[in-house]
Amino acid sequence: MLERLRDLVSHHWGYDSFRPLQQEAMMAAIEGRDSLVVMPTGGGKSLCYQAPALLSEHVTVVVSPLISLMKDQVDGLRECGVAAAQLNSSQRSDQQRAIERDVLDGRIKLLFASPERLAIVSFRDLLQRANVRMFAIDEAHCISHWGHDFRPEYRQLRDLRKTFPRASVHAYTATATPRVRADIAEQLSLRDPLLLVGDFDRPNLTYRVLPRTDEWKQVVEVVERHKGEAGIIYCIRRRDVDSLSEKLRRKGIDAVAYHAGLSPDERRGAQEKFASEKCDLVVATVAFGMGIDRSNVRYVLHTGMPKSIEHYQQESGRAGRDGLEAECVLLYSAADAIVWRNMLERGGEGVEPDPAWVESAMRHVRDLDRYCSAAACRHSALVEYFGQQYTAENCHGCDICLGETESVPDALVIAQKILSCVYRVRESFGVGHVVSVLRGEDTEKVRDRGHSRLSTFGLLKTSTKHELREWIYQLIAQDFLRQTEDEYPILRLGARARDAMRGVVEVKLRQPVVRKRDKSSSRPPSGPAPLDPLQPHDRELFERLRKWRRTEAEHRGVPPYVVFNDKTLRDLARVRPTTLYELRSIYGIGDAKLEAFGDALITQIREHCATAPS
Ligand code: ADP
Repeated sequence: MLERLRDLVSHHWGYDSFRPLQQEAMMAAIEGRDSLVVMPTGGGKSLCYQAPALLSEHVTVVVSPLISLMKDQVDGLRECGVAAAQLNSSQRSDQQRAIERDVLDGRIKLLFASPERLAIVSFRDLLQRANVRMFAIDEAHCISHWGHDFRPEYRQLRDLRKTFPRASVHAYTATATPRVRADIAEQLSLRDPLLLVGDFDRPNLTYRVLPRTDEWKQVVEVVERHKGEAGIIYCIRRRDVDSLSEKLRRKGIDAVAYHAGLSPDERRGAQEKFASEKCDLVVATVAFGMGIDRSNVRYVLHTGMPKSIEHYQQESGRAGRDGLEAECVLLYSAADAIVWRNMLERGGEGVEPDPAWVESAMRHVRDLDRYCSAAACRHSALVEYFGQQYTAENCHGCDICLGETESVPDALVIAQKILSCVYRVRESFGVGHVVSVLRGEDTEKVRDRGHSRLSTFGLLKTSTKHELREWIYQLIAQDFLRQTEDEYPILRLGARARDAMRGVVEVKLRQPVVRKRDKSSSRPPSGPAPLDPLQPHDRELFERLRKWRRTEAEHRGVPPYVVFNDKTLRDLARVRPTTLYELRSIYGIGDAKLEAFGDALITQIREHCATAPS
């Protein structure tokens, strides 16, 4: 059986091995044992149900939350020579009938449908008649309200088990803490499921959490560093998306905006432009992502802290899905948690949010806040959050392990000075004023209040405004200070202030390492060596193949990565195969693609070699 599976995977997908846990997940599907498969984004979940579906006599039903996501998957499968189809409400009834007939006649191996459709009696009827034996539930965390992306329509899947007692049910998700995991199994009534939890580490990603000092400058630096590569910039608020994308366009950088406030047409347009590689940069809120399968995203930049580690893991996880190196930068200020609290407490459109919900959401915010302000390896912190151990001492792939930030020496003394200043101004002023007093600024407000006579006046005058602000927010995050939630927030001493004043606790403050500028380059320390470097003379061919891929994709009405992903193009550029036999051994080229694109690829490569014989 395993041999047949391997042959199928090689024949259709052109892969010569399995990724970790894929084999186990596939065997569970083949043996009809329920399973819950948790793998990080890019781990290769789809293949776990796609390949076994080919071995089954019956149609396999895949439940997926978004029509766009289904369309890309179906297109991708067809390009690989797999009989797949989707049924959705936007299709004409004659199209739907044709697909239903194909399903009943056994001509379709994989049928994609939304959770809503599964609740429709006539659809269930069709599946009964087709004798469905296997359901694959994609993005299964959507069923759990403990998860970060609960979708009520997923609850309609709860009685699948009863309606189809002979079918096995397989759940797939990228983000699930142990609690969400248990909830998925319970909601879907999984029977003795095989639980497979993949390695959450993404070694090809370099994580950086940088203090947000000059947002615009920092954004431009990252975008320019990745010129010609695909990236996603996430902002917390819609208005920030609009203004940042506008500013980037004015600077001549082609960026599209995406958020839930845009019309469906505008959103579709933006998504299409990005997916088809007509545009390489999207500025978006969290609304953007699900359904984005572009695998060659080389960087994800957050201009502010997202609202949970799950969100961060999922959003940053959209970088480097092709397994090649990519960068995830989070511009952080300890003030972000306060922005979130205000937003969560305000709730949406006049609806008073449930305090228990706000508290649970704030727990997620605080978890991420701790991740950002901590001085621990990012890879290790993320992996451990998902209940796994990280053993490497140095990941060589995050700001901490690369030595880009450092502890502030004398953090305790600095904290004591700040706390005592807050105390001296009688816990009645905001961050700005406290910073002015500590820096010894001769402002009207300082003079009027007589604060220039305080013993704490000018106590930290060698520090910059920005440093002081940042430290204050870091002290808030560690409960040494707190900030009121009024319109003009005021600094008060926090629960641990007394311990800090007595010097009986450890206080941690971080700052970026100031390096002497290397004149030859404005790049930050580079991180790990690229996993799959492309030599300059191969790059030209790679770019040529990319262009060819874009035209080919447009011609077929599919996104470029459905034709080939970047890893395949890189291998082609390096190996330069000129016969069909050689082509077949390239990553991602199975028999269907060999037949469809083989000759065209050989022509491209030959022409390139004739003009640039390097
Ligand atoms: P997920 O759904 O877990 O985010 P995907 O199923 O989209 O991940 O797979 C991510 C990428 O890995 C895709 O480009 C896919 O084609 C590729 N892939 C999956 N399995 C393998 C494999 N066994 N060998 C090589 N590439 C694979």
